[in-house]
Amino acid sequence: MNKNTIRNILRQYQSQREQNEYELENRKKEIYNYFPEIKHIDEQINQICLKLAKLVLEKPKDREKIVQKSKDEINFLKNKKSQIFSENNIPLDYLELKYNCDICKDKAFLDSGEKCNCFKQKIIKETYKMSNIEDVLQRENFSTFNLNVFPDNISTNVDSENNHIQTKSQRENMKSIHSKCIDYVNNFAKKNNRDLLFTGSTGLGKTFLCNCIAKELLDRGYLVIYQTAFTIIEILEDYKFRRNNFNNNDDNVISEENYRNLFNCDLLIIDDLGTEMINSFTKSEIFNIVNTRMIACKSTIISTNLNIVDILNFYGQRTLSRVIDNCNIIEFYGKDLRLK
Ligand SMILES: [Zn+2]
Repeated sequence: MNKNTIRNILRQYQSQREQNEYELENRKKEIYNYFPEIKHIDEQINQICLKLAKLVLEKPKDREKIVQKSKDEINFLKNKKSQIFSENNIPLDYLELKYNCDICKDKAFLDSGEKCNCFKQKIIKETYKMSNIEDVLQRENFSTFNLNVFPDNISTNVDSENNHIQTKSQRENMKSIHSKCIDYVNNFAKKNNRDLLFTGSTGLGKTFLCNCIAKELLDRGYLVIYQTAFTIIEILEDYKFRRNNFNNNDDNVISEENYRNLFNCDLLIIDDLGTEMINSFTKSEIFNIVNTRMIACKSTIISTNLNIVDILNFYGQRTLSRVIDNCNIIEFYGKDLRLK
């Protein structure tokens, strides 16, 4: 992430604000056109405001009385306006500025000077190569989740000791997973929400449910990083390489913040754990991130095609067992839906 990217994002905010203004002007024109009386009311309100400033300057002693009188007049006019709106089924805030983010009013920063979460999330989106996430989340979310695509027949599996065990149907299993995910989202603000570990082969809906959770929490204003283990490692390597080779430029300060976001963001979703190059660097990095987040009560969701035994073998019993102990393990099984 470099300064240019930040500048581009800020430029987007600027044009968003201009767009908001432009749309408001259009709504005004439309309303004034259909209801000239509203235009007249707005003109009267403007007149009162102008007169108020003048009168206060002329008679500073009567300030309070003048202000009160103007307030009453303005309220009277506003009520009249609201009445016309209601009678014609126009939303009462129709002639107010609309924002993408109501918290910072599309300014990217809060009054305190701190970055608004929407701005932080945009930076995360750039840094963590999540550019197409919005499109994906439009398609895959709780409202498009369809239980009926999962087969409903009960199958019999053979366990390691050759016992025949009946498992829930894939649909039944998904129903229970779906409700666990809903609970996870609803309890997200609670500090004791356990992490989730999705296991099962590809095509069983793991990514879809990660998307559902990501969308829901992004919509609620949480900072979410969602990336494959492979790309996270790539970004980490890049960050460490730069830090060791280029000292003290502005871009490094920005990278530093992005690096810390891996530890600090509200939710980290590590997709496809096990597809990254597994060596001592990647093992210890992944463990370090997940473990640090666990200690800080930050939520993490891990999704993997590996089973628990493989995970422990790959990453080391000692390092990951504590993490796994803290996870709610959710097992996906059944038919690969992508083949349908
Ligand atoms: Zn904002």
